[in-house]
Amino acid sequence: MQIITTVSELQSRLNLFRIKKGKIGFVPTMGALHRGHTSLIRKSVSENMVTVCSIFVNPSQFDDKKDLDKYPRTLEKDSAMLKAVGCDIVFAPSVEEVYPPDLLVALNIDFGSLDKTMEGAFRIGHFKGMSEVVKRFLDIVQPDNLYMGQKDFQQYSIVKNMIEQLGLPVRIVSCPIIREIDGLAMSSRNIRLSPEGRIKAAKISKILFEARKNAETLPLDEVKRIALAQFSNNSYSVDYFSIVDTHTLEEVQNLEDANQVVLCTTIRVDGVRLLDNIILK
Ligand code: AMP
Repeated sequence: MQIITTVSELQSRLNLFRIKKGKIGFVPTMGALHRGHTSLIRKSVSENMVTVCSIFVNPSQFDDKKDLDKYPRTLEKDSAMLKAVGCDIVFAPSVEEVYPPDLLVALNIDFGSLDKTMEGAFRIGHFKGMSEVVKRFLDIVQPDNLYMGQKDFQQYSIVKNMIEQLGLPVRIVSCPIIREIDGLAMSSRNIRLSPEGRIKAAKISKILFEARKNAETLPLDEVKRIALAQFSNNSYSVDYFSIVDTHTLEEVQNLEDANQVVLCTTIRVDGVRLLDNIILK
């Protein structure tokens, strides 16, 4: 496995694979890796000749400077994990390498409702920064396949939409949420939880699993009411708890209102924003 920090070195390395007509798989991350991330790498390794994992904490997608400063940076440990699962190239560029002074990165894509609901309402500018950096990385890596986690459902939906709108020649693959044994969705931010917060966090997925069961028999407003009561009885801070059409990310009243329905939530525990979701239909 190679660790590369410049665009030119990465591109000349990848050209060797392109000449051989080998498929290139790409997994963008912000590092502080866990088994959720390595599941994406494994999937890419199984489907491509070469797998590139980028590690880049993108300043433009952080609306909160403190969150950016506190974001864990663990390149050495990350590299060892990536090597163990067969990743071929770690691309860990500097901010200057990703954003050279004269490069135009602004995209001005209209994502319709996709970037306005849920996370979009809480993290102003987040999806603009995220979509622009993913586009920048797609331009650099030019992968055949792009692997993203269902864990960040809205992020996946926006990137998929961007690929469609710009007609980019890449296939996007959504990978299932990897959870801790107690059900908590793995996240680089989980290490910030206190021992009590960690126990509290584990209950989030239990409430979601119960909501999915309830949705089999109860109307969705009742499903929501029961779940929100459980959160409020245990004094969780709920940013949103939305049952949405996977295509528009707009709220649905009934499961019949859309072909595919997902329940997305963000709950704050110890000031840490924990995202989770579950497909209802
Ligand atoms: P991040 O570094 O947290 O921005 O995540 C990089 C990629 O890993 C994104 O596509 C995430 O959706 C994905 N990811 C993060 N956590 C998980 C998880 N628990 N299970 C599956 N994929 C995940």
